[in-house]
Amino acid sequence: MPSQNIPFNKPCFEGKELVYIAEAINQGHISGDGMFSRKCSEYLEAILGCKKALLTTSCTHALEMSALLLDLQPGDEVIVPSFTFVSTANAFALHGAKIVFADIRPDTLNMDETQLESLITPRTRAIVPVHYAGVGCEMNTIMEIANRHHIPVIEDNAHGLFARYHNRYLGTLGQMSTLSFHETKNFTCGEGGALLLNEPSYIPRAEIIREKGTNRSQFFRGQVDKYTWRDIGSSYLPSDMLAGFLYAQLEEREHIMEHRSKIWNRYHTGLKEWASQKGVYLPYVSVHCEQSFHMFYMVMHSLHERQAFIEFMKSQGVYCVFHYLPLHLSVMGQKYGAKPGDCPISEDISNRLVRLPFYNKLSKENMDYIIENILLF
Ligand SMILES: *Cc1c(COP(=O)(O)O)cnc(C)c1O
Repeated sequence: MPSQNIPFNKPCFEGKELVYIAEAINQGHISGDGMFSRKCSEYLEAILGCKKALLTTSCTHALEMSALLLDLQPGDEVIVPSFTFVSTANAFALHGAKIVFADIRPDTLNMDETQLESLITPRTRAIVPVHYAGVGCEMNTIMEIANRHHIPVIEDNAHGLFARYHNRYLGTLGQMSTLSFHETKNFTCGEGGALLLNEPSYIPRAEIIREKGTNRSQFFRGQVDKYTWRDIGSSYLPSDMLAGFLYAQLEEREHIMEHRSKIWNRYHTGLKEWASQKGVYLPYVSVHCEQSFHMFYMVMHSLHERQAFIEFMKSQGVYCVFHYLPLHLSVMGQKYGAKPGDCPISEDISNRLVRLPFYNKLSKENMDYIIENILLF
């Protein structure tokens, strides 16, 4: 039996979560858009400077809302990176889009902006960059190409809340963006998300889509005297109890960011020399990016070495994980005509990447133990 048992992720509480949940209950408003939902939205709008922040039940649902806002027609195409979580593609597939897969850059593992233009066709309706590990995609180039073709950009910013690109917050650069507050993300309420709108013309319809296709939001603001069925939509509001939980985390933004940056830097400092000797690739952050410290990954030489590393660390009681199976190789990906070899960097990185334990309350002692053991590998 190893002397330690260090999980990959652990939900961390900042202190006031239960207080705020109790407050939501005492207020007598536990459905969506109560006091805490408003506080979270206002907080995000004030810090980030987006035109509107709408809390949702997940990032997946925020992406689905963005798909509905695009009014996709049969044959319309949406460009997503192959190396991402399923939802980035599935949300658009669900609403009828044909998914077109972009490969990633080998340095940041973000959508390769140099290949983007070659994927655009007259049917392209959206480009969905993912800021992998909370390090910004090359948004100047992506926005320049998108604007030239009049294609909206939806940033999947599940990893990068409060990270910046050329001093601007990720999620405020495209027409829309999405956030995740899933248990595995930097700020959480268990399950949750948000749709951020930077283009005011999307706001009225987004509010209707979020409220089951009704203008209920206008009704509650006293702007209309009854609410009716106006458009298609669904039920995307999280309970105000969850919003209370989330607000307790958002309030601790500086504290959480500082803690996570310490963890990231401790890994980086502790592993730098070993990695350069071994030829293991560590995360790269472009000079014009401030990252969100969402994760610490390493890229090993081969699938075999990556698997051996995960096994070795597990034998020491440390749980490391790998991720994203390239979407263009998946059963669904192949339905869109994608084939092996289409996104070679995604295929290669997917075999070799490993993520180290990373959560707000990961202790110095645990980190020292993890690093000591990595140095033995
Ligand atoms: C976590 C994640 C999602 C989905 O988030 P949910 O809130 O669980 O729906 C989408 N995209 C990326 C890149 C993610 O990491």
